[in-house]
Amino acid sequence: MLLIGGATDAMLARIGKHFTIHKWGDHDLAWLGGNGAEITHIVTNGHAGVTPQIMTALPNLKMISCYGVGYDAIDAVEAARRGIMVTHTPNVLNEEVATTAVLLMLACYRELLRDDAYVRAGEWEASGGAPLTRSADNQTVGILGLGRIGLAIANKLAPWNPTIVYHSRSKKDVSYTYYDDLTAMASDCDVLICITPGGAGTEKLVDTEVLGALGPRGTLINVSRGSVVDEAALIEALASGKLGWAGLDVFEGEPHVPQALRDLPNTVLLPHVGSATVETRAAMGALTVENLLQHLKDGTVISPVPECSGL
Ligand code: NDP
Repeated sequence: MLLIGGATDAMLARIGKHFTIHKWGDHDLAWLGGNGAEITHIVTNGHAGVTPQIMTALPNLKMISCYGVGYDAIDAVEAARRGIMVTHTPNVLNEEVATTAVLLMLACYRELLRDDAYVRAGEWEASGGAPLTRSADNQTVGILGLGRIGLAIANKLAPWNPTIVYHSRSKKDVSYTYYDDLTAMASDCDVLICITPGGAGTEKLVDTEVLGALGPRGTLINVSRGSVVDEAALIEALASGKLGWAGLDVFEGEPHVPQALRDLPNTVLLPHVGSATVETRAAMGALTVENLLQHLKDGTVISPVPECSGL
């Protein structure tokens, strides 16, 4: 088994009972050239990924188990073409990522970071109460990508009494208002929450036009992938006041975050921690390993990616 990217000790302990674990990084493409035929399975994550070059170097590769629901770093179409099964970890992280989205939205509305800094700097005692913030109640919230996590976000926001609207490529069987045009939705929203997959199909969906439509009182939350938002356009909109606030868990070139974004006071920035709690990572790790071990045992899996569901 080839491990590309991180895995928890609990995952490695279970996997190690059934496989010899080779770690990418200790090994490179040259090593695969001589030893690649030994590798039948890969465990990777949504960031590290598996390129067609690696697939080519592994003639007996049968399965890739992704430790995460987003698999845009794995060429799943190419894997399916080669008959290689790819699995991921849907559903077990919905509530956690939804919590992260709500956390970012509330932090923007109630200026959590500004007011925390205000207290720490002694400004409360020196200058009196902090400036007023905005209420997060009764807002129109647009969800870009009303899938598993998007629906969990809509449900989790209920106590704030939002009006939920959404945009995706197809209309869903829900009571929320559907927009087939993202810019039109953004112009009707107070908050736009991005939770689509990454990859070519969603690249820079949120561009200058969408950000301008969201407007000076608008808030952008991105818990999807950095590639979904045009980051240069976002920085320009936030710096010029064309957009009000942004709460971001993901970035175009992460872990690099542009200094301009870090300097802006109207941003809340997280290091891609949407699902990163002990409990949720344990559930994701368990599903990753169960997919792997079930495939080893009888060739079936629990949660294939859609591209491989016919294999
Ligand atoms: P789902 O597949 O359940 O939902 C994805 C949604 O996006 C669907 O509603 C789909 O609807 C919509 N969508 C896809 N392509 C487009 C497009 N081009 N334009 C508009 N809408 C689109 O996925 P999940 O909810 O399980 O996960 C979503 C993503 O969240 C993951 O792929 C991952 O990138 C990200 N994520 C981020 C995490 C983090 O740590 N920040 C953690 C976990 C996930 P339709 O097909 O009708 O367009």
